Amino acid sequence: MKEVMQEINKFREDRDWNQYHTPRNLATSIIIEAGELMENFQWQDEPKDMVNVKEEIADVLIYTMMLADDLDLDLETIIREKIAKNALKYPLEK
Ligand SMILES: [Mg+2]
Repeated sequence: MKEVMQEINKFREDRDWNQYHTPRNLATSIIIEAGELMENFQWQDEPKDMVNVKEEIADVLIYTMMLADDLDLDLETIIREKIAKNALKYPLEK
């Protein structure tokens, strides 16, 4: 995960895109890319264009990773914390 993050940061630094990457803009972009992903499922349960599905999933993840990185959040840590919280909220006995 760290190597991919370094690649993403190099890509945006090389293009001087950090100036546009405020937390608000990144959070907005996550929703926009999620909408583009959802287009693949509009009026159909199975997507016809898996190439586009892969690209839009990647877009969502890239923006999410940039937002977390800029907020000094470690993705693996916060994912594990949320899984642990979900396990307490939804125990197997329920
Ligand atoms: Mg996209």
